[in-house]
Amino acid sequence: MISGRWDSAAAPGAHDPVGQCVYGSRLLGAEPALVLHGGGNTSVKTTVPDVFGDLVEVLYVKGSGWDLATIERAGFTALRLDRLRRLLGLGRLTDTQMMNELRAARLDASAPDPSVESLLHALLPHAAVLHSHADALVTLTNQPDGAAVVRSVLGADVVVVPYVMPGFDLAKLCAATVPAQLAPDTPGLVLLNHGLFTFGASTQEAYQRHVELVGRAERFLARHRPQWADEPQQADQPRPAVAPAEIAALRKEISDVAGRPMVVSRHDNARVRGFLARPERSQRGPLTPDHVIRTKRVPLLGRDVAGYAREYRRYFDEHKDRRGVPLTMLDPAPRVLLDPAYGMLTAGPRVADADIAADIYHHTIDVIATAESVGSYQALDAADLFDVEYWELEQAKLGRAGAPAPFTGEVALVTGAASGIGRACAQALRARGAAVVGLDLSPGPAEAPDYLAVRVDVTDPAGVTDAVRAGVERFGGVDMLVAAAGVFPAAQPLAGSDPAAWRQAMAVNAESVAYLFGAVHPLLALAPRGGRVVVVASKNVRAPGPGAAAYSASKAAVTQLARVAALEWAGDGIRVNLVHPDAVFDTGLWTEELLADRAARYGLSVAAYKRRNLLGMEVTSRHVGEVVAALCSDGFAATTGAQVPVDGGNERVV
Ligand SMILES: [Zn+2]
Repeated sequence: MISGRWDSAAAPGAHDPVGQCVYGSRLLGAEPALVLHGGGNTSVKTTVPDVFGDLVEVLYVKGSGWDLATIERAGFTALRLDRLRRLLGLGRLTDTQMMNELRAARLDASAPDPSVESLLHALLPHAAVLHSHADALVTLTNQPDGAAVVRSVLGADVVVVPYVMPGFDLAKLCAATVPAQLAPDTPGLVLLNHGLFTFGASTQEAYQRHVELVGRAERFLARHRPQWADEPQQADQPRPAVAPAEIAALRKEISDVAGRPMVVSRHDNARVRGFLARPERSQRGPLTPDHVIRTKRVPLLGRDVAGYAREYRRYFDEHKDRRGVPLTMLDPAPRVLLDPAYGMLTAGPRVADADIAADIYHHTIDVIATAESVGSYQALDAADLFDVEYWELEQAKLGRAGAPAPFTGEVALVTGAASGIGRACAQALRARGAAVVGLDLSPGPAEAPDYLAVRVDVTDPAGVTDAVRAGVERFGGVDMLVAAAGVFPAAQPLAGSDPAAWRQAMAVNAESVAYLFGAVHPLLALAPRGGRVVVVASKNVRAPGPGAAAYSASKAAVTQLARVAALEWAGDGIRVNLVHPDAVFDTGLWTEELLADRAARYGLSVAAYKRRNLLGMEVTSRHVGEVVAALCSDGFAATTGAQVPVDGGNERVV
């Protein structure tokens, strides 16, 4: 439920209208039920001096690329109002031309691109304007008799505008019809199948009206809100676990249809389970047309990805000639899947895309269920949605987008990922676009959506199985496996060596990798671009050191293991390679004291000791991470079973 949160003590005063607009925008942005992933914008009209000292009437409007929740002054673009008003007098303008004119109306050429809804803000006579796509409002408008429902719930003094696609045509329609309907106390404007505009002499007044109107809608809907009464037992019970390979197989199909690797995330909660009692409701369409970019028009019900793609191509063919210009078809892969056994899966080329689709669809579930309880949910028809999905401004973005990072849509599982070489590998893979599942005994905080930190002891097979499952539930599969977890027992001569240290080295450095290989192989075999494995071994495999028997033997064992995997898995399209680092001192294994002790033993300074290799350079974790990422890249597409030193050059190895 919305509640007014304007704090006059914290908000800038009337002397600072832009500051007040920033403050009010953040209040709106803080409520996902009002603005979700770009759905909403705000403005304020004021007067500023230009470079000549002349006073100019301007519209400060939200710039694209800024989120209302975190917007700052720099996120607003000042546009010359006289130019905007003249544009509204033009008979016809394409949206591309309109955007060009809006950009040209900026006072500051380096300000962000202004909102595509800028002309709507300009035509309203009020100083302050707030616009949201509030869930409660679209619940009322997305009904067969949406206009009547809106008037009966919000009051007859609210102006209602029928659906027209956002852009110049909508601004023209509003310019022609809205001003005559505005009375001094008109609180707002409802665009059917789109959202709410409120306005006032100040952002504070516009905000209070926004809260009042959304509150009226929410109170009305609260009396009808579904209690997930469809199937309460089902809603309470988590769905049974799904075999990771099943999800990975579905992800491969989705990726193949999309023509690129896709991240797939699984969501199972009471909202999803309640909705799945009657999933056919999902086939009616999105809440607002801009959601088609994120979720496509409808989710896939069940698992027939190929059937969904066929239907999408049919939809494209049916509508593609509407504008009389050639269109580039978007990939036909679903973005939201609803399945009785899986719950909801969301897909996207990046983790952020899959997460946004999930956020939007959770809201969609609530709105559809609530709309059904007050009447009947009705979205726009397919043709109107197609117009937004294939809007000229969206098509132009396709041409502008540069090549994505090479591992975009791919997933890497890295052991020992919280520190040292493992962390450097995770960073190098993420820098190239991969999502990473990081396994570690002390995993540290998950710092970003593209990183899942899992606490696990790699020598515990059940724990590793659970970690792999968690990774697949979050990202949909595993394309790359980097085995970097390892231990380096204290130096011991063979005579009188400690059997426990030997067993620990073998368990962590070799056996755990054997188990991990078995657990991950089915997923690697389903990687859309082929699986890749890199094992972090050691220079000691080729050049063992005295006192390091357990370490050297365990790394030799894991090297043989990886070579056998290269032989066994080539037929599955999986490449398996090794790196042999040496003298990487920026890891947890090396303390200042240990370094000083070793350096002294060779009669060297610490700095000279670190550079004791042919190239005379200090080898760091980052060097190893870069080589591991390179081995996973297409540059090594023809390489498997290789052992690459990362040691600055070693006479005993070359
Ligand atoms: Zn809008």
